Amino acid sequence: MATTPHKQTYLKLPTAAEPLNKDRIAELLAAEWETFKKSTPGSGEENARAAKTMPLGVASSFQHWDPYPLHIKSAKGAWMTDMDGNQLIDYSMGFGAMLVGHLHPVVMEKVKAAMEFGTMFVTPAPQTRTAADALCERFDIDQVRFTNSGTESTMYAIRTAKAATGKRGVVKVEGGYHGSYDPLTCSVKPPLDEAGPADKPNLVVPPATEPGELYIVPYNNADALEAVFKEHAGTIACFVVEPVLENIAIVLPDAGYLERVRELCTEYNVVLIFDEVKTGLTAGPQGASQRLGVKPDLITLAKSIGGGLPVAAFGGKKELMDYISNHTFMHFGTFNGNPLSMAAVMAVDEICTAEALQTAEDLNNHILNGIYDVIEEYKLPAHVVGFGVKGCVSWSTSQVRNYRDYKATDFDIAELSWLWSINRGVITPPGLDEQWLVSLQHTKAEADKLIQNYRELAAALRS
Ligand code: PLP
Repeated sequence: MATTPHKQTYLKLPTAAEPLNKDRIAELLAAEWETFKKSTPGSGEENARAAKTMPLGVASSFQHWDPYPLHIKSAKGAWMTDMDGNQLIDYSMGFGAMLVGHLHPVVMEKVKAAMEFGTMFVTPAPQTRTAADALCERFDIDQVRFTNSGTESTMYAIRTAKAATGKRGVVKVEGGYHGSYDPLTCSVKPPLDEAGPADKPNLVVPPATEPGELYIVPYNNADALEAVFKEHAGTIACFVVEPVLENIAIVLPDAGYLERVRELCTEYNVVLIFDEVKTGLTAGPQGASQRLGVKPDLITLAKSIGGGLPVAAFGGKKELMDYISNHTFMHFGTFNGNPLSMAAVMAVDEICTAEALQTAEDLNNHILNGIYDVIEEYKLPAHVVGFGVKGCVSWSTSQVRNYRDYKATDFDIAELSWLWSINRGVITPPGLDEQWLVSLQHTKAEADKLIQNYRELAAALRS
């Protein structure tokens, strides 16, 4: 199997890395946590208040970290302000939902204008049709249905595949996250002592979860996928996969991997679902599928298509979506296609031109190159990975191609790097393996600040 990444992606490995001193990492980490607590008492107090009425004091468990997460009062452009008035450059950007930046004027204008006509009809409306037209054209799909979250979209994509094939089996990737639908919460970050062999991973089911007929495969391993298709011949409805894994840092597809996946799905009559909830417009103006040149049967979209409003979608080939039209199954949702969200979808469609996204991607490449220079100068055991407007540092000297490689990266230095940045006015997503996102409102000065933080961290680590 080829092990060079797909050519539409960015990867730079170190040429002369040297190990880091574990004691030095621990010492710096302890000092950074002290700094964090001293500079964010307002967030600590707010979290304690919020924990009275919300588990962990947050609305989604992703938002939580110990001892408490930053609580944010406001955001604009590429910046957020926390409870203590600390200003942070936002590189988390709502996990990609804020691709166009906070309070983008076009989103604001179109959503405000929509409010003049009514926020909620629960009947069909031309606004919904216009937004559906725009998504179908942009993502080259025949039909689409709106939902309100990525979770709903992946759930309904699977239901569509099951209805169309009359089969019940689902295959997902070890380490892949696709939201909170029961089967898709399995083997997301399984403990290694339960995960089984790397080329035939165990199904690891979290408590209170019904996996159904679910099979787990490693990413970047088409032979393992074929083995599952053969072993369970005639029972597999779909394979759900992010074209680029974006929940365990950024894991790039090997050259030829997605093409082979496509062939296998066609050969074994399995519906190929690309989960583009995270990639979507962050991968380029037409999403990851078109950028990488592999056409799935269904895609799911969320986050970046909505300019910060809660909207998502699933869609693809008409012959599959026809199973909704012919009433084999129903797709429901009170808020589906509501006029406010549709106004935001149309605003994003207007803003996210190929040129605008290319400018953000150029800035992302500037960051990736700048951090790579730091890695080389300080001989850090790390490498940089990028896709579209997203990038990350993976703390290992070799490429991360799947979940097992990811588990072998250095999580202590990842935590230090994340906290170091927060204490210096830059926030990336709370998970240690998440990536940064360059929005359409970040500037070169803000990009240079991210690089500068890595330079100062490298100097501290080597001092
Ligand atoms: N799919 C992927 C790839 C995701 O990253 C996520 C959320 O992060 C989801 C699906 C679920 O989306 P939501 O949080 O909107 O339910």
